[in-house]
Amino acid sequence: MRVRVLGSAAGGGFPQWNCACPNCSRLRAGDLHLKARTQAGVMVCADAGESYLLNASPDLRNQILSTPLLAPAVSPRHTPIAGVFLTSADVDSVAGLLSLREFQPLHIYATKSVRRIVLEENRIFRVLERANPPVRWHDLAINTWFPLGTNASSGETSVRYRMVPLGNTFPDYVSEDLRRLLPPEEAVVGLVLANGNKQMFYAPALPGRSNEWKEWAESSDVCLLDGTFWDDTELISTGVGSKTAREIGHLPLSGAGGLLQEFHSQNRVRKILIHINNTNPILDEESPEHREVRDAGCEIAYDGMELDL
Ligand SMILES: [Zn+2]
Repeated sequence: MRVRVLGSAAGGGFPQWNCACPNCSRLRAGDLHLKARTQAGVMVCADAGESYLLNASPDLRNQILSTPLLAPAVSPRHTPIAGVFLTSADVDSVAGLLSLREFQPLHIYATKSVRRIVLEENRIFRVLERANPPVRWHDLAINTWFPLGTNASSGETSVRYRMVPLGNTFPDYVSEDLRRLLPPEEAVVGLVLANGNKQMFYAPALPGRSNEWKEWAESSDVCLLDGTFWDDTELISTGVGSKTAREIGHLPLSGAGGLLQEFHSQNRVRKILIHINNTNPILDEESPEHREVRDAGCEIAYDGMELDL
């Protein structure tokens, strides 16, 4: 199973269009110690040339165009993309679905709550129903293994997946009426992909309010984990927001109870940080924070990073 990071930044990307924080300003000025990044998304090539996207960021169209493996192979219309997994209904997880609206049959895998938010609160996404056959949504129960791929029903796939509940933060835009009806454990999930005895865990948003994620992270070969913020008060100290990292559903990397302290496993797990906010000092490859993350055994995802599982 081949895995490619299509985008490695948090919402807004890096640089962010309206941001003049030190990182964004230095990147715009050409500082070579920082690399531009698009908004987070991952491609997984499973069986028989079928590819799956893990989330659909607002940058998805350009990410597809810059990935030759995702080019159409058959005239007149075709895509190797068989489906899209959504780990939340956040704008940076779902907005890219609108870039897949050109009458292309696809499968979308999400919790029932995420599907209801996308379709009931945002009627614009019904544009996907114009495909023939229409885009098909699959409501996934959490904590349940499913076989992956169009051969799944015949038992010919070795790839399985499951969604792990990670937190109860629905996006701000969800109406009170709908929010009252939705089970909170379906708000934010991590995705476990297993290929034979190899396992990957994808959790670009990790609220850290329970410990279940750690078991999945520690039992995996590769983890792509929430690297959004270095510090819990980063948005406040950089003057771009008033909430803490934890208040908006992201465990910070540093400090007591932060990701580096909570997940310091020295075993075979490959730890890769993704969904990195443009204010995060680890984006500066010369910074002490960057060195601290590397010394803790973590890699920092970049657009185009590839790995095999
Ligand atoms: Zn910035």
